[in-house]
Amino acid sequence: MSDPPPPNGAPWGRFERLLPREIEAIASARSIAYLPWGALEYHGPHAATGLDGLKAHGLCCALAAQEGGLVLPPVYVAANTIKTAPDLNFPRHSLDFAESTLSLLAREHFDQLADEGFRLVFTLCGHVGQPHYDLIKAEAKAANERHSGTHFIATSETDLVAKELFIVNHAALGEIALLMATDPDCVKLDRLPDDREPTLQDDAVWGPDPRDASAELGQKFIAGFIAGARASIQSVYRASSSDH
Ligand SMILES: [Zn+2]
Repeated sequence: MSDPPPPNGAPWGRFERLLPREIEAIASARSIAYLPWGALEYHGPHAATGLDGLKAHGLCCALAAQEGGLVLPPVYVAANTIKTAPDLNFPRHSLDFAESTLSLLAREHFDQLADEGFRLVFTLCGHVGQPHYDLIKAEAKAANERHSGTHFIATSETDLVAKELFIVNHAALGEIALLMATDPDCVKLDRLPDDREPTLQDDAVWGPDPRDASAELGQKFIAGFIAGARASIQSVYRASSSDH
């Protein structure tokens, strides 16, 4: 894979930590809002329950540092978590919301961010349970029809990292490496059994062994994500600049 393009020099910041003047200065230089969408969901004995939101927030901050714009705090309201997965028995530590709540919350976030005047709203879904993920994408599509001045993207690292690099997984090598890179204190690999391979049924681990994860591998995924995400943002942002 080629290296990500160099930073474009546009400023960035975390929306909830900024005062109005700083928000306005960043938004006028780069009118992009990043909305990380996570979940509170059991991710095995070895990872924080907020993994999906921590990961999405970390990825959005790394992307904004290259591309400019404002990163919103993560939304932790999710549907279709492991708590409700048939054939699995992980009833604790996940907060599972109705699909209608999720859709309404996505719609209102999108309307509010359009009202703030952002030209692009980039929603990054850290939890891709279904139909959770498709519901957020459907709300982004509907918001594109409602708001002519704002373009909405709803995506996930699954759809942006190059195929040769990406690992489909839950609490396994891919997610754990990302979390080790963004929030190292939220992973404890020694909580996994040392006498057998982790499994989906017993440990909520789906995919390659998370014990092979490292922060360095996570940084590789982050670089791959940034390259894919910047290409998708720049095509939309350029197109929307020409209609203004
Ligand atoms: Zn996850």
